[in-house]
Amino acid sequence: MPTREDVLKELSKVKGPDLEGDIVSLGLVSDVFISDGRVIFSITVPAERAQELEPLRQAAEKVVSKLPGVEKALVALTSERKGGGQGAAPAPVRPAPKAGDAASVPPPMRAGGAQPGGAAAKPGVPGVKAIIAVASGKGGVGKSTTTCNLALALQANGLKVGVLDADIYGPSIPRLFHVTGRPEPVSGRILKPLEGYGVKVMSMGFLVDEETPMIWRGPMVISAITQMLREVEWGELDVLVVDMPPGTGDAQLTMAQNVPLAGVVIVSTPQDLALIDARKGLNMFRKVDVPLLGIIENMSYFLCPDCGGRHDIFGHGGARAEAERLGVPFLGEVPLDMAIRETSDAGTPVTVSDADGAHARIYRDIAEKVWAEVARNRDGGHRAAPKIVLES
Ligand code: ADP
Repeated sequence: MPTREDVLKELSKVKGPDLEGDIVSLGLVSDVFISDGRVIFSITVPAERAQELEPLRQAAEKVVSKLPGVEKALVALTSERKGGGQGAAPAPVRPAPKAGDAASVPPPMRAGGAQPGGAAAKPGVPGVKAIIAVASGKGGVGKSTTTCNLALALQANGLKVGVLDADIYGPSIPRLFHVTGRPEPVSGRILKPLEGYGVKVMSMGFLVDEETPMIWRGPMVISAITQMLREVEWGELDVLVVDMPPGTGDAQLTMAQNVPLAGVVIVSTPQDLALIDARKGLNMFRKVDVPLLGIIENMSYFLCPDCGGRHDIFGHGGARAEAERLGVPFLGEVPLDMAIRETSDAGTPVTVSDADGAHARIYRDIAEKVWAEVARNRDGGHRAAPKIVLES
């Protein structure tokens, strides 16, 4: 296993953003954490140059991955927070609500009840009382992992839950729920969803051939979504959680317009760069009047399995601050933890494999807040949608 010094020595071979100096002597590398074959750190760059500097991130990841004993390097670009969040985003026009202050987990929504966000105008799905989207401004922030654990936590809180995996570019829900096979027709075109850990699951992965070129996938989103919503025997569900495709393109926008959503949960990492993307995500849903249920900060902090210490390598708290500034509920923080990664990748999510553990509790708390927000919106107790103008 390499030491921190070994890692920094390798990183000093990576040139700085303008090919001057190296990233170590320029002071761009964060603390480095080494644990169990993984090396984790971040590199600070100006937010507006994030895309352009992706090769720099990859170069850093590559040199570190090559060190003997390193199984994986996890490198993120972060941008410096300027003076207490005086960024371009405007101040909220109303105080940020406390997401968790509803007295208890509310009862399920009435079938056929009016839904916010113009959802009443879109035909509902018979038997399904609420549809929630989980979205992120970009890929790789843990959206699918969060969708899966949130769905299982909603179930643990006593609700009947289904999951619709609309992430056409990387449908990972079947793996997360450990379900394989093809949904069988029950009558005519109606398919029976598969089931994982008691949750009914449908995925783009079941409908779109893996060989389908990416370029054809976008246009298929809407027809596949419509099919998965309306031609699947969902039965009676309190809530259907939709894992949205990452990003804020046309496919996502059309989907947000077509699905009768009770609200959307945004998943973001704490880094400012991810938050810029998260803001775009928020903006997209606001454009089509879908209520924002709140923001979850994923990979919020790192709990070191060796020293037991908590490390804020990725700039923990960015999403909370952003949520407050935007007047959107902050739903909770999920740590960066190898147990979450490993259980997700193995198809045994922490919410079931360690149902009484600390991580499961975090997801259940988040689920409770999400459901409280859904109920608050449904009951009309919800604040008028804030008129905030977000950069796009
Ligand atoms: P997305 O759906 O946003 O593309 P995924 O949910 O597929 O992201 O997650 C990307 C990777 O990060 C996966 O390998 C997943 O196991 C891992 N991951 C997600 N959340 C966490 C977390 N809180 N701690 C550790 N690893 C995580």
